[in-house]
Amino acid sequence: MDFPTVCPNCAHENRVEFADSSVHDVTCARCGAQYCVFLRKQKFEVLFDLGTRALMDGYAREAVASFAAALERFLEFYVRAATLERAADTDADFSAALAALDGTWRHVASQSERQLGMFALAYLLREGREPEFLTPQGLGTDFRNRVIHRGSLPTRVDVEAYAASVFALIDRLLTELGSGAAHAELAQEQVFAAHLATLPDGVTVVFEEHPGMFRARRFGTLSPLSKPLKPTTEAGTRVNDVRAFQEALFRRALAERGTLLDRFKSASGRAER
Ligand SMILES: [Zn+2]
Repeated sequence: MDFPTVCPNCAHENRVEFADSSVHDVTCARCGAQYCVFLRKQKFEVLFDLGTRALMDGYAREAVASFAAALERFLEFYVRAATLERAADTDADFSAALAALDGTWRHVASQSERQLGMFALAYLLREGREPEFLTPQGLGTDFRNRVIHRGSLPTRVDVEAYAASVFALIDRLLTELGSGAAHAELAQEQVFAAHLATLPDGVTVVFEEHPGMFRARRFGTLSPLSKPLKPTTEAGTRVNDVRAFQEALFRRALAERGTLLDRFKSASGRAER
């Protein structure tokens, strides 16, 4: 998947593939100028936006993989934010704390079950309570596995409900994280700074902040959307209420920010396929 960037030298629109690192070294196809695009966006945001775009374009089944990956990467983001936030309250050096975190994550990186364990403890330590949503139902695990591993063809309605539950969970946890999220974003800035230091003279640096389904929070402008999900009174008793609430939340976010995702098509808003 790629996104449009505008050459700082000649204004030509070059399409660039999303890089895992959020760092994109670009050579303009028209004038040959070199520039580097730093995308201030977390992986889970990119993935969720890609899923939403796929859903809007009618690729419901394909969207599921992106939403599922967005949730996994968000849980990692939470662990990183919570860990770095704790370290910030001590005398620990940020770089040392980040290195310890990266080293620890390597032990769990290839197994999502281990990552869930990391998340559960990070949540307990930060919030002082059980992450009650870490159930197969709360995570939509059965639906996800049916679609991704067993080739099930989901209806659009089912995928929208899944997207809504993932959106509501991330939205709630981002709200709980509050300013804590900034600690994980600082880690991304460090990656950018390290790459910046290696760039030769003559390379123009471009920082971009793409709006998307979760972006409003970044700028501290909380919309009514950011009200946390109301907790269920008892397990199961308000499932229908919760589901309706999640779907309303997701639909409002789509109405408010969905058009922003046209960015994936073209900077000028024209569809290009
Ligand atoms: Zn150019």
